[in-house]
Amino acid sequence: MKRIFITVGVLMAITTIHCFSQNLSNTQLEHMRLQSQRKEINLPDILGYKTLKGDFHMHTVFSDGIVWPTLRVDEAWQEGLDAIAITEHIEHRPHREFVKGDHNSPYDIALPRARQLDIILIRSGEITRSMPPGHLIAMFLDDVNALETPDVNDALQAAADQGAFIFWCHPGWKAQQPDTALWMPEHQELFDKGLIHGIEVFNEKEWYPIALDWGLEKDLAILGFSDIHIVTSHYYDLTNGHRPMSLIFAQQRSEEAIKEAMFEGRTVAWFDNKLAGKEEYLRAIFDASVTFIDTGIERRDRKQVKVRNHYAIPFFITDSEGNSVVLPPEREIVVPMKSGTTSFEVTNLFIKGTEHLKVEISL
Ligand SMILES: [Zn+2]
Ligand SMILES: [Zn+2]
Repeated sequence: MKRIFITVGVLMAITTIHCFSQNLSNTQLEHMRLQSQRKEINLPDILGYKTLKGDFHMHTVFSDGIVWPTLRVDEAWQEGLDAIAITEHIEHRPHREFVKGDHNSPYDIALPRARQLDIILIRSGEITRSMPPGHLIAMFLDDVNALETPDVNDALQAAADQGAFIFWCHPGWKAQQPDTALWMPEHQELFDKGLIHGIEVFNEKEWYPIALDWGLEKDLAILGFSDIHIVTSHYYDLTNGHRPMSLIFAQQRSEEAIKEAMFEGRTVAWFDNKLAGKEEYLRAIFDASVTFIDTGIERRDRKQVKVRNHYAIPFFITDSEGNSVVLPPEREIVVPMKSGTTSFEVTNLFIKGTEHLKVEISL
């Protein structure tokens, strides 16, 4: 018995010595590290196009943001995006004393990381002027430095000379339009010269319904972006929601195809589980996402209908009698419905500033 105790004791001692001798200089506790992972956003392709997810308005330390450009790529990868544009203020660089480089640097720094993670990175910049015309982002640039000019018209022309897609940012931002958001004569002039191709109807956490009406009237690309300056997970609830972004209906997953789609206005804004844009795209997304199947069961003159939402956007529907139901993402629910044709509004899909998509179902 005593010998066994001695043997066990010796074994334990050897094991202990062995463990410690192995770990004395550096023990890697890998389980402490959070495994980085991409959360896919499952959306339907529509009308023969691929549905791409892009955030084309964000900042880093190269203007007034607080993060390094590669972090923007990592965030985009984790959040399931296809494409981003880092859009530094050309005229506002508060960290300039500490951060060297020029207006192309954030793109150049982030590009290798974007290639590694297969995120499409678009060279862009934000022309940052007082109102009018306010702030305008130029995308698909070759050289952002060319946009640093005293006169805003020269900056926009320099962008146009590079074939840029230009959009008006946060048109209802109270710091620049304190009373009522206005499409000013200066914006009309830029539009007439072909220097405005898109408009943000949503920015950061602000929704501008009036800008949706302007954009639809003038056939602009309807856009919504984060304009994030800090870390996205510090600003948005990414567990229960998503960052603001735009959906781009492109011929393929490439920068060229995104550019073509944006100039053709094949975009919708997606923010706070709302979609805003041209009716044909919102209808196509709804139709591709939701199926109605009659179970054949009737209760109190109502058919029991299985309604399945196959994709990531929830739909809030209200019928003509005021009954509302939510179709949660990637779930099926059973809804009692009348026989014949039922009309309802999808109250989180905006086809105008104050108008929702209307849908009819015949059972
Ligand atoms: Zn801005
Ligand atoms: Zn901005």
